[in-house]
Amino acid sequence: MQLIYNWHITEKCNYSCHYCFSKWRSFQEIWKDKYLVESLFNALSKSKLSKNFNEFDFVNKKVRINFAGGEPLVLGSHLKEIISSATTKHGFECSIITNGSLLGKNMELVSMLSVVGISVDSFSMDTNNKIGRSTNQNKILDYETLVKTVNDIRQINSDCIIKFNVVVNAFNWNEVIVPKLQTLGPQKIKVLRQLPFGSNCGISDEQYKNFNIVNKDRNGNVWYEDNVDMTNSYLMIDPSGRFFQNGNPLEYHYSDVIYNTGLETALAQIIFNKRTFMKRYRKGVVYADK
Ligand code: SF4
Repeated sequence: MQLIYNWHITEKCNYSCHYCFSKWRSFQEIWKDKYLVESLFNALSKSKLSKNFNEFDFVNKKVRINFAGGEPLVLGSHLKEIISSATTKHGFECSIITNGSLLGKNMELVSMLSVVGISVDSFSMDTNNKIGRSTNQNKILDYETLVKTVNDIRQINSDCIIKFNVVVNAFNWNEVIVPKLQTLGPQKIKVLRQLPFGSNCGISDEQYKNFNIVNKDRNGNVWYEDNVDMTNSYLMIDPSGRFFQNGNPLEYHYSDVIYNTGLETALAQIIFNKRTFMKRYRKGVVYADK
């Protein structure tokens, strides 16, 4: 089992999804400061992990940093430099999760990535606009652009795993999306139930159930994550270099800054459920009625 950190490197995004949880309390974004980024990578090194993490395979697998946001690609060439340092200097495997809108302009990044995750909630202009999954100019990631993007990724890096994330939310719970995504041949599709956070109260059991019925997995490559599966099961780092953890819908729980306090101490300051983490990476039926 590979250990994966999710570094939410920036809060900035060119979309404005109503359910977005990328909002952190009193922080500075350290991506602007090379010294602090290097300090964070040094602190995250697997050599700093104790035996408490012996479930993870550090011999055959590199530790992976998944760059998330906000939208990580708004950082453009800065992100490229940071990922280059993470891979070549620090020996991490790297991946990104992106809304896909800026991938076309940043294709050269793909050669350094083991996984590209693209979030797609709908192919409807109307639904995407209602969700806020569009730019100020109402531009969305349409199906044709997604097809081209996927083909370009495969041409540049045929080893790169392609993954789609779909958040089931108040505006798409009755839409059929998964079969259309499956025609693009991704290795994995993650269906995530919108997590209640701040003023967003999530969706009902019936809406989530309905989505999973109309989006039945026919290829065996769909992973379902209900809210309980997402709670305390990610190792998430905020833009300032602190671990943060969900579980409280009103506010995150934070560790101290990892590069100051040290990895072991910072990890001890948050709840991390290794069993749920591992369950997320094993093919299993989380949705009981499927
Ligand atoms: S694309 Fe992602 S980061 Fe951007 S607003 Fe939507 S949920 Fe938030």
